[in-house]
Amino acid sequence: MTDKYGRVIDYMRVSIIDRCNLRCQYCIPTDIEWLPPQEILTLEEIAEICRQASLIGIRKIKITGGEPLIRKGCIDLIRMIRAIPGIQQVTLTTNGVLLAQYAGQLYEEGLDAINVSLDTLDREKYIKITGSDRLPDVLKGISEMERYKIPLKINSVLQRGVNDEDWKDLILLAKDREIDVRFIEMMPIGHGKEFTSISNEEILQKIRARYGQVEDIKKARGNGPATYCHIPGFKGNIGSISAIHGKFCDGCNRIRLTSTGQIKPCLCYEDHISLKEAIRNGSKEEIRRSLLMAIDKKPAGHCFNEDQEMITEKHEMAQIGG
Ligand code: SAM
Repeated sequence: MTDKYGRVIDYMRVSIIDRCNLRCQYCIPTDIEWLPPQEILTLEEIAEICRQASLIGIRKIKITGGEPLIRKGCIDLIRMIRAIPGIQQVTLTTNGVLLAQYAGQLYEEGLDAINVSLDTLDREKYIKITGSDRLPDVLKGISEMERYKIPLKINSVLQRGVNDEDWKDLILLAKDREIDVRFIEMMPIGHGKEFTSISNEEILQKIRARYGQVEDIKKARGNGPATYCHIPGFKGNIGSISAIHGKFCDGCNRIRLTSTGQIKPCLCYEDHISLKEAIRNGSKEEIRRSLLMAIDKKPAGHCFNEDQEMITEKHEMAQIGG
């Protein structure tokens, strides 16, 4: 499916829960209001929307949240989505806290790849950023995924004065293992607005200063807007998701389904189309029509680096799914 700007839209991020088991400063503030469970789509409803999405050309699904692994039945949902003809890839993004517990089941269900969000390898800083002492669990989860050989990427958001120098340790995860470590620029969504984004170029310059010339990887890797480079001698690669300082909307390939059944054409704006009525009425044609409408409404680009007033999305990243 191609949108009016000629972009191929074949990827859907599917948030299956708005709740999380961590309280990251910039993502899940303590004053967030959780939705009552009946507001959230059932797993069968989510799978049906994915089925209809596959019929209009969606090929890749990312399960996200909140924290997807705290939703009962997350593994069943992965199985249901993997069984949909036309869906070629199912991946998951998680904070990794419960990963060790679910690694075997994720392997058995044939999960194609996993992203683990991890902003520091320093236990004290981890507690400060996430509000929980769960770094050892996350590291255990990462080791388990390696044991099962499920392709793994680490996503890190750096904050000035908190973990801005932690790239030094984080990139070492890519040294001896085939793990890609990616830096995501802080986006002005929800409480993210209160933080100043560190540009990925700044991090790359520091990496170059430390390691000498790094090689840019020209060939596209993964589903999204990340660009990659390689440090000679490292097994994995270093990725940059430069939402603010490197506008990547020309290559945008996605729509987003929230846990409440809203389809979002773009992360930056509140615009959405609700699928809840259509899914609860059993109208499959209406679901497909709404999905196509959302693709048609995709804007040319976000406005994160313009006037903040233009960013109309008011929810937290955890409520949208990132
Ligand atoms: N709990 C899952 C996880 O940790 O991957 C999925 C949801 S979380 C919202 C997805 C990603 O969004 C995480 O990597 C998180 O660090 C990132 N994120 C949250 N708020 C952000 C913001 N304002 N700017 C950039 N990334 C953000």
